[in-house]
Amino acid sequence: MFPLVALSILVHASSLNTALTSQKNLGPTLLRDLAPTITGEDQVFNFVIVGGGTASVTIAAQLAEDSSVMVALIEAGSFYELDNAPLSSTPFSDLISSGLSILHYVQGKTLGGSSARNAMIYQRPTIESLQLWADNVNDQSYNWDNILPYFQKSVHFTPPNTDFRAAKPTADFNPNRPLIPMVHSEQETFLTASLNCTNLKVFDLTMAKKILFDSQNNASGVQVNVTGFHVFNINATKEVIVSAGAFQSPQLLMVSGIGPSAMLETFGIPVIVDNANVGQNMWDHVIAGITFPIVTNSATRFVNDATYQAESISQWETNGTGPLSNNNLDFLAWENIPNSLHQNFSSDVLKDLDYFPSDWPEIEYLSASGYLGNFSLPTTDQPSPGNCGSIAIGLVALLSRGNVTIVSADTNDLPLINPNWLDHPANQAIILAGCKHTREIFGTTAVLRGLAGPEYYPGTQYQTNEELTNIIRDSSVMLWHASATCKMGALNDPLAVVDTHAQVIGVQKLQVVDASSFPILPPGHPQSMVFLLSDALAEKIADNIKLTWGLER
Ligand SMILES: Cc1cc2nc3c(=O)[nH]c(=O)nc-3n(C[C@H](O)[C@H](O)[C@H](O)COP(=O)(O)OP(=O)(O)OC[C@H]3O[C@@H](n4cnc5c(N)ncnc54)[C@H](O)[C@@H]3O)c2cc1C
Repeated sequence: MFPLVALSILVHASSLNTALTSQKNLGPTLLRDLAPTITGEDQVFNFVIVGGGTASVTIAAQLAEDSSVMVALIEAGSFYELDNAPLSSTPFSDLISSGLSILHYVQGKTLGGSSARNAMIYQRPTIESLQLWADNVNDQSYNWDNILPYFQKSVHFTPPNTDFRAAKPTADFNPNRPLIPMVHSEQETFLTASLNCTNLKVFDLTMAKKILFDSQNNASGVQVNVTGFHVFNINATKEVIVSAGAFQSPQLLMVSGIGPSAMLETFGIPVIVDNANVGQNMWDHVIAGITFPIVTNSATRFVNDATYQAESISQWETNGTGPLSNNNLDFLAWENIPNSLHQNFSSDVLKDLDYFPSDWPEIEYLSASGYLGNFSLPTTDQPSPGNCGSIAIGLVALLSRGNVTIVSADTNDLPLINPNWLDHPANQAIILAGCKHTREIFGTTAVLRGLAGPEYYPGTQYQTNEELTNIIRDSSVMLWHASATCKMGALNDPLAVVDTHAQVIGVQKLQVVDASSFPILPPGHPQSMVFLLSDALAEKIADNIKLTWGLER
């Protein structure tokens, strides 16, 4: 329990917050009562949705608004409060990243998907990055002006309770800091309300094995497996919608026969659409970190000091205050690499970076309480005694592209992820310059006041470009923003997997709506765009579907 709590503080404190909050609102018994009885026999619905994650639950809720429409939602995990509270122990684990080292890539495997595990950062893309999205897919409904109403619709802001704010708050840790408005997973926001609808059936703990097609290449249903039952089919009379996330959506397409034909044939999968783009074009932000000893309390003390830890947990459980009320990422900033370092970039690198519009930053800085190191063992690696603070340097002008491939024809076998994070010379140049600039930031008078000693990680012995590049390569990790592996695009886009209505190109009645259907990954944190897709696209999809099928609007 102890290491898990500490890991939560360092990496995703939201799990704890969300779980504890959720438990207060929604009892497990109620949730279990709302789950369907799974028979293991073939069943028929109008719409079948695979994945109960961030993007999909809105679509399910919208479709189920028409009581005559039968909707099935298939989720490999279960209700968060049943399987995960107080901390998630059943993520999609051990997804393999190759290229740099073997890493664990966390994802939500629960109703609510990765929204139930993420760090609660909500931030919208820049105006010009959305223009690039719209131009890239040749559909201006995705530009800033047309998208803004959906952003506004997709959030409800709860201001902080200023009663908890100290009279003269400082930048130092403030135990009476304002409460962070609680973030709820998509399950809580949309799905729980819809579960009272008898026309929406949630198949939890159910793994989609493959999409079924009729002889005309219309998606006709999904083959599923529930532990303890025979494989059975959930048939769709109208549409199948895949929302299994950036890794499992392309996996499901591939095991179902949509993907690079040579690879599908290797695994004995009959080819329905030969599309080499499925699983390619992966955009994923990557971070490296620099750590110093600091004079204020941090997650380092939380890990090493049992008394402080017990007090912190008690504070949180008693009135929702203290270190655990913090998501450990108080300060985010974006910028282009300053000119003094930019001028070292080669002309080729500068030319490649012209791809990005002027308001697209090259780097994101994320302050983090504690020692990050190479992120492999944040719970056991915290130096003792003392406290540490880090700045993580996030690469957001991405020119490297990763990919996802299958290792078998079975969705129970996790796909192979190759992020290729620092493959492109421009990306190597940016993150190196970002680390150098972060050292400059730590050397400013204002920051020096908060430091308790010399650089702890990687350490002043790393000075040359080669030394720094090597340690960055060894220690970089994901920011969990994988996307664009079933790229959206115009019909003449040589990289596209889905069109701008999220319809899979080459078949009918099959859509992919989630982070995988991004055409590009805008700078910053993606959940606002996933929410947007699930609102704008879901509305488009729901409206289109309702129009197509003559349903109530
Ligand atoms: C640790 C972490 C921290 C993050 N922090 C932030 C943040 O602070 N801000 C931000 O903007 N973004 C953040 N993100 C990213 C953001 O949460 C994701 O981009 C977003 O949630 C992805 O939504 P999705 O719908 O594409 O997939 P998901 O929400 O992951 O949903 C996919 C669902 O499909 C299910 N599934 C997969 N395969 C199958 C199958 N074969 N059968 C049945 N079900 C299946 C999964 O169990 C899952 O529930 C973070 C992500 C993580 C993991």
